[in-house]
Amino acid sequence: MSAPRKPLVVGNWKMNKTIAQTRAFAEDLRARALPFADVDAVICPPFTALCEARDVLADLPVGLGAQNMSWADGGPYTGEISPLMLVELGVDWVVIGHSERRALFGELDERVNEKVVAALRHGITPIVAVGETGQEHVAGLATARVREQVTLAFAGIAPADVARCVVAYEPIWAIGTGNADSPPEANALMSEIRGAVAGLEHVRLLYGGSMSPGNVADFLAQPDIDGGLVGGASLDPASFAALLEGARRGALA
Ligand code: PEP
Repeated sequence: MSAPRKPLVVGNWKMNKTIAQTRAFAEDLRARALPFADVDAVICPPFTALCEARDVLADLPVGLGAQNMSWADGGPYTGEISPLMLVELGVDWVVIGHSERRALFGELDERVNEKVVAALRHGITPIVAVGETGQEHVAGLATARVREQVTLAFAGIAPADVARCVVAYEPIWAIGTGNADSPPEANALMSEIRGAVAGLEHVRLLYGGSMSPGNVADFLAQPDIDGGLVGGASLDPASFAALLEGARRGALA
């Protein structure tokens, strides 16, 4: 019997919040009683605000994540940020393969794999995002597409290293729409993810797609859902705190 998985809530701020806004968020969060003993919390500000978040939250157990990174350590890659630079800032987590990176910036599964390898090489925990489009969902192709994405993301990676990762299942049609997947349906697909690649059996699997303080507990009550990757509802400190509390309650259910 494996140890129970500690819930994990990751806030993906996307291209939101200046340094001043990040400071205001972090100072507000500091003043709250948060269930850190029962839930791991990570925020992923824009690159420009990582230092501010790190400094204001220095004495709290809030993990610092990046929303993306390069697969290369350095070189002629204009506009990119390398894992070495993130490690220097104190970043421990990185979202890789978010659907917005895939759709808007042409990130392919092979590149996602290179980034996962690079993150592991530098001791950064990859949060690998996968998910089907609305069309694939309607066509009954969700499981096949997600299994394919997961298989390609972890291609050539030893099971012991796969076990150091986190996977976020984010149905694209549910992201930012207010139309979350149903917790049992998400759970069914996520149990497929667990079986797709050796090493994923005991990793934390996050659901993402219009997760909110109102539905987080229902997701966390599912056996294969260990947390959330949250966009919109992570931007407000009161809402982020409510997500952590809801995750705690849901995991106990
Ligand atoms: C996301 O961007 O990863 C996400 C899940 O966004 P939202 O929570 O706003 O749907």
